[in-house]
Amino acid sequence: MKKVMLMAVAILFSAVTVFATNTTNTVSDTTKTKKVKPAKVQYTCTMHPEVLSDKPGKCPKCGMTLVKKEPAKKKTEPMKMKM
Ligand SMILES: [Zn+2]
Repeated sequence: MKKVMLMAVAILFSAVTVFATNTTNTVSDTTKTKKVKPAKVQYTCTMHPEVLSDKPGKCPKCGMTLVKKEPAKKKTEPMKMKM
């Protein structure tokens, strides 16, 4: 009986690993195709994330003013909780 359990765990583990690897590959692929340089500030349309411009301007699709697209920086501000 223990062997069956081990097999089940092994199959489950490998399935999770394959799923995780696939997800990471997809994410890195989309980043490569977009060719986003993290150092440069880019402007994008809030309605059309695929619209990218080096300069501020208007979206060619809807005419909305492009907004700054800053590289994802997670600022961890220390939250002081008063008890
Ligand atoms: Zn737009």
